[in-house]
Amino acid sequence: MSDAATRLANVREQIARAARAARRRAEDVTLVAVTKQRGVEEIEPLIAAGVTDFGENRVQEVAGKWPALRSAHPNLRLHMIGRLQSNKAEEAVELFDVIHSLDRASLLDALVKAGEKAGRYPHVYVQVNIGAEDQKGGVAIADLPGFLDQVRGSPLPLAGLMAMPPLEKQPGPYFALLAELARRHDVTGLSMGMSSDYPTAVMLGSTAVRVGSALFED
Ligand SMILES: *Cc1c(COP(=O)(O)O)cnc(C)c1O
Repeated sequence: MSDAATRLANVREQIARAARAARRRAEDVTLVAVTKQRGVEEIEPLIAAGVTDFGENRVQEVAGKWPALRSAHPNLRLHMIGRLQSNKAEEAVELFDVIHSLDRASLLDALVKAGEKAGRYPHVYVQVNIGAEDQKGGVAIADLPGFLDQVRGSPLPLAGLMAMPPLEKQPGPYFALLAELARRHDVTGLSMGMSSDYPTAVMLGSTAVRVGSALFED
């Protein structure tokens, strides 16, 4: 059994090692600690250890869990990493700084409207359906150029591309493909890599890894 600080140090070390191997700077990789279904008492040690970026996937859960933490720690950034319904856009704009799951025009429109109303616009990653899986969210690769144009014509700052490789496949080729799409379309940020594959993702250019279980379980 190890504690939160030890697990966090290990994850940071793995990020640093992967960055070194790829001749990248570890500072260019943001660790987004995924705290869905974790209690405040599990989150606080990470904040104390200097984690500033947190990922969640349910608006309702965040509305209950985060306002108190946020007012105690105003420097934190909250990332929406799950599928977002357009009718939750107003709440999402109030709660989140970054949205990793923008994948359709109707959601873009809803976020723009919500942003106008709130006077603040979240940064957005466009989620790409990198493995062309029916059950997964994300823009089809063929539709990406047109959708990026739409996002760039909106007031939402474009943070980058996000993807999740198919579960049962080696992730490397999918990460490499997402990085190639980013290069082709002049996008800088890459949200890719989870507990099972974040070192590979960092080697292939990830700038934001979304790590949950590796921070909480041995
Ligand atoms: C849950 C989740 C993660 C974190 O997964 P772990 O395997 O626990 O690291 C990352 N990204 C998304 C979109 C998730 O839903």
